[in-house]
Amino acid sequence: MRSVVIAGGAIAGLSAARELRRAGFQGRIQVVDQDRRGPYRRPEVSKGLLEGRLGVDSVTTPWPADLNVDRMLGVRLTGLDLAARTVQVEGREVPFDGLVIATGCAARRSPYEAMAGVHTLRSAEDAERLRPELAAATKIVIVGAGFIGLEVASVAWKLGKSVTLLEAAEIPLARVLGDDFGEHLAGIHRAHGVDLRTGVTVAGLVAGASGRVSSVELTSGETIAADVVLVAIGSEPATGWLRDSGLDLSMGVVCDETCAVADGVVAAGDVASWINPLYQRRMRVEHWTNAVEQGAYAARRLLGTHDPTGFASVPYFWSDQYGVKLQCVGSTLGHDQYAVLDHSDGRFLVAYGRAGRLVCVAGMNAGAAVMKHRAMVLRAVPLAEVSAVSAV
Ligand SMILES: Cc1cc2nc3c(=O)[nH]c(=O)nc-3n(C[C@H](O)[C@H](O)[C@H](O)COP(=O)(O)OP(=O)(O)OC[C@H]3O[C@@H](n4cnc5c(N)ncnc54)[C@H](O)[C@@H]3O)c2cc1C
Repeated sequence: MRSVVIAGGAIAGLSAARELRRAGFQGRIQVVDQDRRGPYRRPEVSKGLLEGRLGVDSVTTPWPADLNVDRMLGVRLTGLDLAARTVQVEGREVPFDGLVIATGCAARRSPYEAMAGVHTLRSAEDAERLRPELAAATKIVIVGAGFIGLEVASVAWKLGKSVTLLEAAEIPLARVLGDDFGEHLAGIHRAHGVDLRTGVTVAGLVAGASGRVSSVELTSGETIAADVVLVAIGSEPATGWLRDSGLDLSMGVVCDETCAVADGVVAAGDVASWINPLYQRRMRVEHWTNAVEQGAYAARRLLGTHDPTGFASVPYFWSDQYGVKLQCVGSTLGHDQYAVLDHSDGRFLVAYGRAGRLVCVAGMNAGAAVMKHRAMVLRAVPLAEVSAVSAV
């Protein structure tokens, strides 16, 4: 293998490049990204960057010169020809011996009529567009109480705005973290004066005389005044450029347990779905730490120095809302039991089990308690070892 192309130069791509060089790969590495900026701490998009507390430069990692990579920035990948072993970059064929697919996700597009004042949020550029509008606005409506919607509600509250948060489910995040956890978090938002409405569906957006959004209409007929609307209804794997490649794109880029997609082709980060040997389940994880670790593993897979049993990962993520630190270690996927471990003094700690075994621990304001359980999640200890349990 003399040349590697890294498709997507954000954190998973950077991590792959670092690992290739760390392991002694001396061939050519080319990184292709439509974004001209270097990799940056994307989690700050809905936190410090949006709030204006941090500037983009302070969260950007310039490509380290000693990695000696050729960067093709500000250009889009448009195709992959597996037989010819080339990627298309805006009509140009770029050959590779090894390929790392790390194109991440894009914000799910707003299904509503496009008009001024309506935003989605994924990139630093999106945050830069939204920030001044947020600052000038009085009433913010957020559609979708997933992590990004919830974090933006907290930022808008901090900026002194009137915030309405609309969620189709009865309890935010219940599908991921269960009813108790979701209720607790909803309570925190409501206690800060956010008008969180659950079990509601948006019928459409209404423009004022200037053409700018003026309100959000619910299917119940009710309208909610809005100066700015954020549509935060999830994300989609950025696989459009692979449409004609013949790869299985049914769940992002479908890999085996070793992150391999095809001969000499691997995937990592938000875009990759793989069978996590630890859980014996296919998963696609949209968390920062996973992108870092999987990028490195995928590089080792290309070099043949990987753990052949697969990329065994205990997913980890955090979120910050109103100064409350939310953390989660493990995967709740398919959990059938849970146990509240601590619900005192503003702390909230929950364990999740599947078939009697610990699969995940999540907490709010729980300090080091969440991470303390990481080793137990890794060993999948009997849930009863952690606490008395309840069925879901
Ligand atoms: C607003 C926000 C807040 C978050 N907060 C947290 C958090 O608090 N905690 C946490 O654990 N995780 C958080 N995450 C998730 C975390 O940021 C992601 O898991 C991580 O950034 C994934 O990295 P990645 O390299 O796989 O993909 P991405 O960061 O999506 O990068 C993919 C790169 O590929 C490029 N690309 C895509 N398609 C093409 C193409 N056709 N041609 C050229 N280039 C292309 C893109 O420009 C991009 O640079 C957050 C994500 C967002 C959006």
